[in-house]
Amino acid sequence: MYAQIALPIPLDELFDYQIPTTLLPQLKIGCRVKVPFGHQQQVGFCVNIQEVSQVAAEKVKEILSILDPEPVVTLQMLSFSQWWAKYYHCSLGEALETTVPYCTTIQRRKNILIAIQPGYDITYEINALRAKSPSQAQILELLQDSQAPLERSQIRSKLKISLAPFKLLESKGFIKTIYEEKVPDLFAHLPTETTPKVELTPAQQNAFQEIQKAIELEKFKVFLLFGVTGSGKTEIYLRTIELIVQQKKEAIVLVPEIALTPQTVIRFKQRFPNVAVLHSELSNAQRAYQWEQIHAGKIQVVIGPRSAIFAPTHHLGLIVVDEEHEPSFKQQNTPRYHARDLAVKRGQEANAIVILGSATPSLETYHNCLKHKYIMLSLPERIGTAKLPQFSVVNMKEECQEQKRFVYLSRVLIAGIEKRLAAQQQVILFLNRRGFATNITCPVCGYEIHCPHCEIPLTYHKQKHISLCHYCNFEAAAPTECPSCHFQGIRFMGIGTERIEASLRKFFPNARIHRMDSDTMVSRQKYEDSFLAFSRHEIDILLGTQMIAKGLDFPKVTLVGIISADTNLQLPDFRSSERAFQLIVQVAGRAGRGETEGEVILQTWQPDHYAIQFALTQNYTKFAEDELKFRQELSYPPFSRLLRILIEGPVIASIITKAEEIIANLPPADCEILGPAPAPIEKIADAYRYHIIIKCTTMNIMSRYANTIQKFVIHSSKMNVQLDVDPISLL
Ligand code: ADP
Ligand code: ZN
Repeated sequence: MYAQIALPIPLDELFDYQIPTTLLPQLKIGCRVKVPFGHQQQVGFCVNIQEVSQVAAEKVKEILSILDPEPVVTLQMLSFSQWWAKYYHCSLGEALETTVPYCTTIQRRKNILIAIQPGYDITYEINALRAKSPSQAQILELLQDSQAPLERSQIRSKLKISLAPFKLLESKGFIKTIYEEKVPDLFAHLPTETTPKVELTPAQQNAFQEIQKAIELEKFKVFLLFGVTGSGKTEIYLRTIELIVQQKKEAIVLVPEIALTPQTVIRFKQRFPNVAVLHSELSNAQRAYQWEQIHAGKIQVVIGPRSAIFAPTHHLGLIVVDEEHEPSFKQQNTPRYHARDLAVKRGQEANAIVILGSATPSLETYHNCLKHKYIMLSLPERIGTAKLPQFSVVNMKEECQEQKRFVYLSRVLIAGIEKRLAAQQQVILFLNRRGFATNITCPVCGYEIHCPHCEIPLTYHKQKHISLCHYCNFEAAAPTECPSCHFQGIRFMGIGTERIEASLRKFFPNARIHRMDSDTMVSRQKYEDSFLAFSRHEIDILLGTQMIAKGLDFPKVTLVGIISADTNLQLPDFRSSERAFQLIVQVAGRAGRGETEGEVILQTWQPDHYAIQFALTQNYTKFAEDELKFRQELSYPPFSRLLRILIEGPVIASIITKAEEIIANLPPADCEILGPAPAPIEKIADAYRYHIIIKCTTMNIMSRYANTIQKFVIHSSKMNVQLDVDPISLL
């Protein structure tokens, strides 16, 4: 007997291996196996078992071992993976490797917990022990304070004690030791007290009824839940999941990684006892644990970022994609899948309901509603008395002229912050650039310092006193003079969050200011701590990058300041207006979630840009109308499908030759082909970058092109040719 094995390598074929008779009874389709491959061993997936092989008998090698007693890939997931591997033009092995975490057989450590034995007067015993056995008394005190079992290792490191006092306490019957399989749930510590269930508003009721009908029919359907921030979308997800759970089915909720805050998780945990949270910071063992729980059918709701779309649920009833417009749902390396698009496909295969939620839907999704492929459900208003915030725009060009110098914080914004601080309210300030200055330029000779490895200006980080490349992480000591003409007054220009923080501290010396960007938020713990501190009003002004743009629901935030609305508009990408619009609306949505009305102050150098104008009035429909016209004229998505071929390598001449070779081999079709041309970022980490963009008018044409191009896909040190289906970024 022979097995067909899919290997996680960029070769789109299956490999035949003989099944040793000893292994034959155990091997099932969907199990992982270890096989010899070239001079190495590889782990692959058994996707077929058959009696004959087309490969010459002397060439067929034997399977070495089977890794899983039971299949880790179900037949549904196998056919789903086959579909999307083909769509995104990766190999089946690469797709399956993405689908299944590689480590489901890892040994987990046991957790050792100490708990108080009930039935004695603990305060009395503590006092009795204090003089002669202080360590024992301290242990009991800690346990008494925590009112819950504590990890023994934590107690020991806190008190700096040996194991002896534990043994003595246990022999006296005061404590007991609990050996517990490590439950690696990073959100386990979150409070789970339930909040009373709310009555749905009429708008919510309308939307919910539509979804309910579809759920009763148990037939695939895609909804766009189009509602401003705070309009009660999450409440509808929760209600829908309740119905799904009643049907004994499971739900997957996809959220952007940055929206996976404790706040989000708490809301789901309060309603459902068995929630699995997947995210990128889980260790392999933690991921494996969650994965096993889902596979074993113990989980009702899976929450996670894009990879959670592969959660091995068996009776999938619902997929929610919250903030469906977020670009982070698209993976930026092979396999370059889009989780929202896969959600629709997986929902279709499972006959499940799909809800895409957004205040600013992607134009693809919105267009699908206009074509009646998806059903749009609107929640036009915020819940309760909360109103959408008042917007005001500051033209920074005029502001600088009036103040006769370059300023980053306008007078209006400063006055606004002052007013909110005086009223004991909170402020969020948003700037999508980290660092202190985004340009280091010589005012005399005009020399601009670039990364030696990338075509990117270096960013000045003042606290660390370095210049840093945000693409390849190259860092050097910040210059004190111009490297070219040696002028001593080199200038640090452009604004980043670090510079704004410094200005804020000058203007508001008594305010509690906190900066959240990837420089300060180096761990999930810091991130969680910051949110909690902000929610307890231990922070007055929260300043940050898009990390703070969503998921936050803090009623005391009455002012949101957008330091510069322009950073996204400048990007040479056809989606830049869409991104700018979405970010402004998203950030603005953080203001006025409570009873006091909120205000948004937006600083910009391009106040007349249509993306900014429509964002001011929060008019998505008008924005989409204009933007769709522009997309149609230039035949960009959703009016075409894009293929992007990215060719990278250290030698520019060979890249151009390769690009021309690819172009010469493309099949003839009536399609617009852009390039080969240098990518907007021409060089990253010493690799030059060229790209070709093909606007395909139909799916058929797209797959014809992609099939041809796939033959050119290579990954080597000399050349990297990648194929991106439905690219989200053209930089
Ligand atoms: P969104 O997901 O659209 O941002 P949420 O579902 O988070 O909106 O709702 C915003 C706030 O309003 C939350 O604090 C939520 O608990 C509350 N809320 C939602 N629906 C209702 C309702 N029908 N009645 C009262 N409060 C509600
Ligand atoms: Zn660099």
